[in-house]
Amino acid sequence: MKLCILLISMLTVLSGSFAASTHEVDVFSGEGGEIRITFIGHGTLMIQGAGKVIHIDPWSQMSDYTALPKADLILVTHEHRDHLDAPLIKKLRTADTVVLHSDSCSDGIEDGKVMNNYDAHDLGWVKVEAFPAYNIKHKRETGVPFHPRGRGNAYLLTLLGKRILVGGDTENVPELKELKNIDIAFFPMNLPYTMNPEMMADLALAVKPRILYPYHFGETDTSRITELLKGEKAIEVRIRKMK
Ligand code: ZN
Ligand code: ZN
Repeated sequence: MKLCILLISMLTVLSGSFAASTHEVDVFSGEGGEIRITFIGHGTLMIQGAGKVIHIDPWSQMSDYTALPKADLILVTHEHRDHLDAPLIKKLRTADTVVLHSDSCSDGIEDGKVMNNYDAHDLGWVKVEAFPAYNIKHKRETGVPFHPRGRGNAYLLTLLGKRILVGGDTENVPELKELKNIDIAFFPMNLPYTMNPEMMADLALAVKPRILYPYHFGETDTSRITELLKGEKAIEVRIRKMK
């Protein structure tokens, strides 16, 4: 019996560490240090750099967060349940954590700071700028876009000299197409809520990020975006386990 309990507890510990270690990580050299991006899943990322931890749209369904570090900064793009997980945000906070979010998340988050489109926050070690993330084409049956303009944010982070653009739930909208000199971009690719690969290619060809990560892609065939951009030498498409 004792042996059985021991085995079960060992398996529990092993499966816990296994879950944490299955996330892929890419490391970049920034000015004065490394930037580590952990691909947690769907629209959820963890970015580490300058000795700090940023959680973006943390969602408890994507990971065992007890195995991940708490946040210095939490960014929430919009209020949908796959992006705003209020109980998890509480767990990831310390007394010093800054939480930046769209106004549409205000009901779910205490003591956060609202960022509207085109607002900027400079925390010293990272600068965060908000841009419009929305649908032009894809709408609910009522005719209202899944993501109406002005409600959600894309975030542009400047961290250790790198410009990292996290699209949120958006289409290939003109406000994002204007952004330039982007080192790393995350764009969403699932229908009907965001973009198909052709729309993402259109956005990517305008922005020309040095590295493009499709994220929030569900069952979309990721080989399609690689195919569409294969002639574009200025953009490296990287596919990671994000779904
Ligand atoms: Zn959404
Ligand atoms: Zn979403």
